[in-house]
Amino acid sequence: MMFYFERRRLIESLAGTLRGMLAMHESFKGWMEEVGVSMTEEQFSKLAKYLQLLKEKNEELNLTRITDNREAWIKHILDSLMAAPFFEKPGMRVVDIGTGGGLPGIPLAIMFPSAKFTLIDSTEKKMAAVAEFCHKLNLPNVHCIAGRIEALAHEPGHREDYDLALARAVAPLRTLLELAIPLIHPYGYVVTYKGPEYISELALAGNTIEKLRCEAPRVFRYSLPEEMGERTLLRFTKKTVTSDIYPRRDGIPTKRPL
Ligand code: SAM
Repeated sequence: MMFYFERRRLIESLAGTLRGMLAMHESFKGWMEEVGVSMTEEQFSKLAKYLQLLKEKNEELNLTRITDNREAWIKHILDSLMAAPFFEKPGMRVVDIGTGGGLPGIPLAIMFPSAKFTLIDSTEKKMAAVAEFCHKLNLPNVHCIAGRIEALAHEPGHREDYDLALARAVAPLRTLLELAIPLIHPYGYVVTYKGPEYISELALAGNTIEKLRCEAPRVFRYSLPEEMGERTLLRFTKKTVTSDIYPRRDGIPTKRPL
């Protein structure tokens, strides 16, 4: 009898999980279609697998404070994919600076397999986890680097080499631009993910924008579903080659922003 009840509870719990997954699948596909992105079943499964890997690794490393599955789909996956409209042509070279546990880089690499991604973070343990995720997700289009952006941005093969630099929750705008702008070629884009605080950050960044010779940004605002927050993407276009003095040495862009 005991066994019967336990088995029934297990089946009910699995059925509940399955119902939750199917509902998530439908909601997610609908939200993605609203932003003009369609996805295959394989891509959806890879996104789900990535969240599972992130959750498992989070027990050992501090990669995310979000543990609820639906919240993770919205605040991590959907939010990361809001940069999809900037993937304008196949084969783009993309760098995700301060990727942490692989955001926004991994979800975008799943959705844009022809784009070539570099994911960088200074925390070695995080990058080891990200490299493991990419291996398990079979993402040959991702190259992982453990190191500082200040150093990478002076290396041939990376400096002024990218079409698109992405940064989510890495640093205030003034610091971020000094790190990111040298990595993209003239007329490439830097896209930063921000919340409503972007207004005060932008107000402080006038000097930085001028020194790094980029245009004032285009601002794309959006609301996450289910009232999970207001977000903003700022897209900066670089006008010309960046002076060799930028970015300054490790830590200076944070301590003494331009
Ligand atoms: N982008 C991820 C996300 O949205 O979840 C992670 C954000 S986490 C708050 C910021 C990450 O940026 C940290 O993992 C930190 O190690 C990395 N970071 C900050 N400054 C950096 C630098 N100068 N070079 C390399 N990584 C840096």
